Order: sequence, then structure tokens, then C-alpha cells
Amino acid sequence: MAIKKLLIANRGEIALRIHRACHEMGIQTVAVHSTADADAMHVRLADEAVCIGPPPATDSYLNVPNIISAAEITHADAVHPGYGFLSENAQFAEIVESHGLIWVGPKPEHIRVMGDKIEAKRTAEKLGLPLVPGSPGPLESTVEARQLADEIGYPVLIKAASGGGGRGMKVVNDPEHLETLMMQASSEAKAAFGDATVYMEKYLGDPKHIEFQIFGDGEGNAIHIGERDCSVQRRHQKVIEEAPSPVITPEQRAHMGEVVRKAMADMAYRGAGTIEFLYENGEFYFIEMNTRLQVEHPVTEMISGIDLVREQIRVAQGDGLSVRQDDIVLHGHAIECRINAEDPETFAPSPGLVKNFVAPGGMHVRVDSGLYAGYKVPPYYDSMIAKLIVYGRTREGCILRLKRALEEFVVEGMKTTVPLQQRIIRNEEFLRGDYTIKWLERWLEEGKA
Ligand code: ADP
Repeated sequence: MAIKKLLIANRGEIALRIHRACHEMGIQTVAVHSTADADAMHVRLADEAVCIGPPPATDSYLNVPNIISAAEITHADAVHPGYGFLSENAQFAEIVESHGLIWVGPKPEHIRVMGDKIEAKRTAEKLGLPLVPGSPGPLESTVEARQLADEIGYPVLIKAASGGGGRGMKVVNDPEHLETLMMQASSEAKAAFGDATVYMEKYLGDPKHIEFQIFGDGEGNAIHIGERDCSVQRRHQKVIEEAPSPVITPEQRAHMGEVVRKAMADMAYRGAGTIEFLYENGEFYFIEMNTRLQVEHPVTEMISGIDLVREQIRVAQGDGLSVRQDDIVLHGHAIECRINAEDPETFAPSPGLVKNFVAPGGMHVRVDSGLYAGYKVPPYYDSMIAKLIVYGRTREGCILRLKRALEEFVVEGMKTTVPLQQRIIRNEEFLRGDYTIKWLERWLEEGKA
């Protein structure tokens, strides 16, 4: 069924991104917003807007009854959740579908399986994805933990089954500390997620974070659109993402791409998804799958020419994928910088009134942002205010263009992470592509010393 009116259950740059794809496809949009976002760009651009509650996300962007009511009173026929908020909530997906609305996302059962880390690993293993060595299920006892750690070798990592955002993890370097750290991890997990279940993985010393973009039509056809290198991270938050990865060879891409493509085809996955791996010494280790669009999806769009949101909508309304694996040609290089309203030294949030905003432009420069002069960045949500995405025929060319684009970037009225991005892209190790998930934090620490 062709979607005529789509409700965007999100805010900020991703709400704009979805609105743009909709209007290019002739689809009307409904924005929802909290009282703090009444003047936000996503509200201004949408064809209709409904206020769904007060500023805290639990009362607005996570308020399922109000979002469903907004869809009903505006006669929307579809819901796109964006990323974050309700995007990986299987129950919300079911509620949307039970109200006769089209859910622009994966099948609820797939969201549920991949949302449970232990189930996700079991499923990944069955589908033939390479795993980090570790416990096959929850750790039942310290005796079992000790045996397993001896087998796989120290250091090991204790992880919370319901964990997220890198929380509830403990590195154990030697047998003496295993019991204490396992207890600690378990009680922290209980406090943070209401679930004390923990499991064990081999701790990889210095890996890269490499993820593959995949897409399925829900009927057993699937494609992969190459990888992204998201290793430039601070506190498990991505800071810069690039595609392709500077260290992955065409042979590795073709091989792993086919492994993930086949896995998705076998599970008859529907919609956009990302398979995340840690990568060390030439080996890939599955860590998790995200059953949604990612913040960093534009770098894949830049090197493939495929509009991922358009593809999501096509699949949701039953039109299938517009491309086959053989049609996909990756070309050139793209880098995304996340620009946050934060102090670039201390990372303290810096919300407030935007006095002036000038976005860079020119050839192959894309800015996804809801910012405008006179807009007040609310303190209640994520601090990311813009994404700068730049394309070049080569990585070197891309970095030169990125340097130029960052010079043009003007936000007055608040501190932003633009100066940090400028420093990173001048760094020798970054220029060589020689960086891992630990690199940025190590470098920032050295700078302080
Ligand atoms: P979360 O859902 O909490 O983000 P992940 O499993 O995605 O948990 O892990 C978050 C981050 O923790 C990874 O991006 C990586 O930096 C680190 N990490 C996870 N597993 C391992 C491991 N086995 N060895 C080393 N680092 C790991």
C-alpha cells in the first residue's frame, strides 16, 4: 500500500532527514514534538504538527499513547521512528501495526531478538557470523565463569545482557579479581537495567569498530552496502565515521559483505540494519546488530548514491528494494563529523540560543542539521546539533575538503566540537587511518599530560 502521510516519531536532524525523503516521494509528513520543541525546524517543515507532551523524553518522544493518538487524529498511515527513542522498541512496532499503521522498520520479532544481547549472539552464530569467543549464554555461576575464562584466556569482559551505551561492562585481567568484578557487574546491571544477567566475552585489546550496512525486503532478498569505520569514539560515542574503512581490502569487503548479506537473506530481514563488528588482526568479531537507521548512514549514501530512507519507505510499503547486489558500485570516500553543542575541551554540554549559524557548502558537502539563527537548543536531549558529511574521490581529497568545510562552519552563541574535529583530522595517525576504538581517548589524555 502506498504511504500517503507519514508520522515522524522523532526530532532534530533525523526528523528533517525523513521529512525530506518523504517530500521527494510525494508523501505528506506529520511532526510530533514536545513543548520544548515547538519552534524546532522539524516542526516548521512538516505539513502538520502535534504536540505530544512536556520536555522530558519519557513524557513526549517516548509517550506511546500520545504518539499513536497523533497518528490517528492526523490520519497518518505510517510511522517512521528514526534512531534512538522508540526505534528499537519491538512493543512499539507491534502497537503501531496493531493500529493498522505501516511500521517503517524491521519485523518486531527481529527487533526483539537483536535487542537481547545473548539472543542476538545465538542468532548471529546460527546465521554464520563470526563471534567474539565467550559464554554461549548467561553466566550461571562463578565456577562456570572461572572455567570459561581459563579456556578463552585473560583478559575477559563481563557484559550485561540488557546493557546499552557501553554501560555495565567490566574488564577482568586476572583470576583473582574475577569473582568480585562479576558480582559488581551483575549488581550494576540490576540497578541500571533491572536485569542482573551477565555474560562473558574475550576482551579484545585494541580493535577497530567496523559495521556493515545491510537491507532486506522481508521476503528473503538482502543486500549489503559496504562498511563504515566508526572507531573514532569517546566514551563509546562515535565522533567521526568514514566509508570505506581505510584498513579493509576489497577482498575482505566482498567476503564479509557476502557473509552478512546471506545472514540477512536467511532470516528474511526487513528494512535497514547495521551489523557491528570489532576488528583486530584481520579478524571480524560480531558484537551486535542495530535494527534501525544509524546516525552515520549518510557516509554510505555518499559512496553508494543510494537514499537509505527512501529505500526504507519503499520496503515498508511493499515496493521492495530498488537495487540488487550486483547494481551496487561503491566509489570514492566519505567522512562524517558529529558536531555537538559541547565544550571541545571538557565536553560539558553547551545548549542555548543560536545567535548565528552559517553552514558550509560547495561541491560534495552535506550538512544535516535542524539549526537556524534564533533557535534555542533545548537542554533536554542529545547534544548533537549537526552532522557534516563530505565526499571526495579519494580519502586524501575528502580530508582536504573536510578541512575547508570545517573552516566555514559558524555557530555563534554556544560552544561546539568543531575545534576538536579540526584537531582530529590534522592528526598523523588519523591521516594514516591508523586508529582504533581506544585511540581518541588515549590521544586526549596525552594532550592533557
Ligand atoms: P552497548 O550496547 O552497551 O553499546 P556493545 O556490545 O555494543 O555494548 O559494546 C560497546 C563498546 O564496548 C564497543 O563499541 C567496544 O568499544 C567495547 N567492547 C564491547 N565488547 C568488547 C570486547 N569483547 N572487547 C573489547 N571491547 C569491547
